[in-house]
Amino acid sequence: MTKKIFRSILLAAVSVLLASLVVIMGCLYEYYRNVQEKQLRDELRLASYGVEADGSGYLEQLAAPYRFASIADFRLTWIAADGEVLFDTHVPAAEMENHADRAEVRQALAEGESVEVRYSKTLTERTLYCAQRLSDGTVLRISISQLTVFALAVGMLQPILLILILAAVLSALLAHRMAKSIVAPLNRLDLDRPLENDAYEELSPLLRRIHQQHRQIDAQLQELRRKTEEFEQITENMGEGLVLLDRNGVILSVNPAARAIFQADSACVGQEFLVVDRDHEINLAIQAALEEGHSEIRAMRNNREYQFDISQITSEGTAAGTVLLAFDVTEQAAAERSRREFTANVSHELKTPLQSIMGSAELLENGLVKQEDIPQFVGVIRTEAARLVTLVEDIIHLSQLDEGTAPAKEPVNLREIADSAVSTLRERAAERRISLSVTGEDSMVNGVRGFLYEMLYNLIDNAIKYNIDGGRVNVTVSADDAAVTVSVKDTGIGIPPEYQARVFERFFRVDKSRSKASGGTGLGLSIVKHIAQYHHAVLNLHSTVGTGTDISITFPNERQTGQ
Ligand code: ADP
Repeated sequence: MTKKIFRSILLAAVSVLLASLVVIMGCLYEYYRNVQEKQLRDELRLASYGVEADGSGYLEQLAAPYRFASIADFRLTWIAADGEVLFDTHVPAAEMENHADRAEVRQALAEGESVEVRYSKTLTERTLYCAQRLSDGTVLRISISQLTVFALAVGMLQPILLILILAAVLSALLAHRMAKSIVAPLNRLDLDRPLENDAYEELSPLLRRIHQQHRQIDAQLQELRRKTEEFEQITENMGEGLVLLDRNGVILSVNPAARAIFQADSACVGQEFLVVDRDHEINLAIQAALEEGHSEIRAMRNNREYQFDISQITSEGTAAGTVLLAFDVTEQAAAERSRREFTANVSHELKTPLQSIMGSAELLENGLVKQEDIPQFVGVIRTEAARLVTLVEDIIHLSQLDEGTAPAKEPVNLREIADSAVSTLRERAAERRISLSVTGEDSMVNGVRGFLYEMLYNLIDNAIKYNIDGGRVNVTVSADDAAVTVSVKDTGIGIPPEYQARVFERFFRVDKSRSKASGGTGLGLSIVKHIAQYHHAVLNLHSTVGTGTDISITFPNERQTGQ
């Protein structure tokens, strides 16, 4: 701005200077021309008196000092009425041509006197002629040559240029100072408090408008801040990850949950999402959402599975960016997987006994079985049917536990339950000469009697099934101030270390044929695990191959002791 003002002032000053110079020169020239013309007329008048009185003698005398010298200021010419030159101060009269056709001569002959101006071919010189008719009819003419304005200006070019340069330098200095002093108050304007300025009156409407806009912007900022805080409060407490991206994939906002998922800090705002997560698929999904409106993708992050839902954000009909929501679906995905596996396993487990029942029944139906073998085939049908019943019961129990539709808890004496399960299984143990014993005091836990019975029944049943003939099974119930523990210890085949964690999975068996032969379903320990979880109890397994297995369940202090 300072430069612009400086240039304008300088231009105005130089223009005014040039115009003034031209006008002054023109006026001065005109003034001196008039003075010169008047002088010339006076001189002509004086000369004409001389010529009237003395004729050419007077002219001879007057012109003697300049005779035929072209350096004289003026020139006198005496012309007869027919135009013949009688006398001339510069050139001998005989050498001069007839002047009858000269305008000033003709006009003087006609009107008594005349004034005429003629320019040289180069326009650098002009000649002023004054002529007067004398009483004898002759004409006396006086002339003087002078430079034209143009020639005068060219002649004075050097001083004019010098004046111009000096004036321009002076103007530049003044323009610089003026520009600075005009701009200084503008630079001092306090735009934060526009109404407190008194720089120029002309600026008042502008300053009032700025003040008004300040107030509007402040109000909008406050509203924006309020909304941002609201948004941050909501998103910060969200369990789901939330990322807002603009149309170029630059992060506008990211909540703490999303930062944890992508292992980024808050400095990632303003960076491209690609910098935070280089995964090709998720970046493709973002692009797809921007183009098509929505996309979904599942991916692992930090050993957890996430579902990423990405939706397009539109503003005034065009895509302005995307919002990415991340849900932790690890448990859901695991449950889905185990449900799929469970369904496949159940179908298989149900099919095997049914096929064997169908096979035996068909043989019997077609009379293909010898009379003495019939009991054996019927036995197969009964055993397989019994296995189906056990399997269905186990599945029902498991689904009850899965759905959490178990009956209400009540104080239950764990020792009593252990006694009851042992007495049910005593006969089966006796078949293989396995001794069963229960030790420990009456110990109360808060639980579901049926579930606890089933849990101990399964554990003791396994301890018999996977025992050696003539082995031992000992059930111990113990209690202290903090917990009640029941353990089932056997002297059986044991479980290899690599399978110890897996035996609680549904349908997992270390030795499938042994399990089947003893009527196992592969669901027993998984039911035990569920029942323990239902009672917030902790399960522990210690087993050594060839020595035996000890499985204990510790119930926390919800217990009640004694009766
Ligand atoms: P199953 O119906 O086959 O017994 P479980 O879920 O009860 O199914 O047990 C799973 C597997 O764990 C069994 O097949 C067996 O291989 C192993 N197992 C369970 N209890 C014992 C134990 N006391 N001693 C040795 N192995 C055991």
